[in-house]
Amino acid sequence: MRPNHDPQEGHHVPVITEDDIRALAAIRSNGALVTSCYLDVDGGRYVRPADYERALDEMVRRMRRRPEVDEAVDADIARIVDRVGAGFDRTSTRGVALFSCDAHDLFVVHELPVPVRNELVVNPTPAVGQLELVLQQSEKVAVLAADKQHARVLVYRLGELVEKVERTDDIGRDYDTVGEHDRGGVEQHREEMTHQHLRHAAELAWSVYQSTGFDHLVLAAAEGVASELEADLHPYLGERLRARLDVAPSAPEADLRRAALEAERAIEAAREAALVEELRAAVNGDGRGVAGIGPVVDALAERRVDRLLVSDGYEVEGWRCDTCDRLATVGRTCTCGAEMVAVPDLVEEAVEAALGQSCRVVVCDGNADLDVLGRVGALLRY
Ligand SMILES: [Zn+2]
Repeated sequence: MRPNHDPQEGHHVPVITEDDIRALAAIRSNGALVTSCYLDVDGGRYVRPADYERALDEMVRRMRRRPEVDEAVDADIARIVDRVGAGFDRTSTRGVALFSCDAHDLFVVHELPVPVRNELVVNPTPAVGQLELVLQQSEKVAVLAADKQHARVLVYRLGELVEKVERTDDIGRDYDTVGEHDRGGVEQHREEMTHQHLRHAAELAWSVYQSTGFDHLVLAAAEGVASELEADLHPYLGERLRARLDVAPSAPEADLRRAALEAERAIEAAREAALVEELRAAVNGDGRGVAGIGPVVDALAERRVDRLLVSDGYEVEGWRCDTCDRLATVGRTCTCGAEMVAVPDLVEEAVEAALGQSCRVVVCDGNADLDVLGRVGALLRY
């Protein structure tokens, strides 16, 4: 029987924070091996849970053939398989990261609103590279939800609420009781109060921007209110305004969160498309870009990479030199003269090398233009 799993129940654990990663990275080898598993559970790619479970089974089958998999590791793997079998709330979870080591009393599951690359590794320490990447790429999205009296600003990062403020301006219900002959004046007064409230709402968003910061702003407001709000926004916020959400300003927080996540995906896809277009122009133009895994690993060796773009799911075998750290598509003798080692996934190695050089790494999800360019490319510093 599958354990009961209700993601809405109990205290909501944040998906991932820098402290979480630090805690995992702080685990030092005591001789025991840690099993790390990343699994793509995206509902778009894997319609049924059985589909991603099959991908996990395949990784587990390969792993169990390896000599380092002893009884303890086998038990850790079984624990991970059990947890995956219990399922996830895939309306908000697209990727999961699981870490298990009984000897360290470690079993951590992070449900992520972004996809991850399937990976199963057994190492003396947890493999936190992908988690770091997820956090590094995450951006904050602020929702400004306003009607004529109430305003809320909610800031989300990776689908988690990180800041929330609200304001209510009473626009004068008492005036309902005044005499008929005063109606005109009352209406005018109400309108002025509404204008003032919307200015307050815009100011509220600006104060949140100054205290918490955010990368993108989306609005939840009715037609007339939204256009006035937009006009009231500080110019900095106007530049960050991305979309109007298809949700009522008074909607429950769960609905706003879902709409914010959807908006974030659309923003992400647009940004990826713009980057790929920049890459395409650079490759065909001034030479400040390279495409394909061979030229990319060469550029990494020369430390010329500024941003690395890679298609989600792209894997290719290759070589790594442990003497000079060079990566190559062809082995086995390195340009430094040393003998290289074969690596199962050169793309993963390139991503790690890029992160080590403090490059930005952008994993593009289903971008056909990047696939045409060779599924990987780099914008260069020079
Ligand atoms: Zn070398």
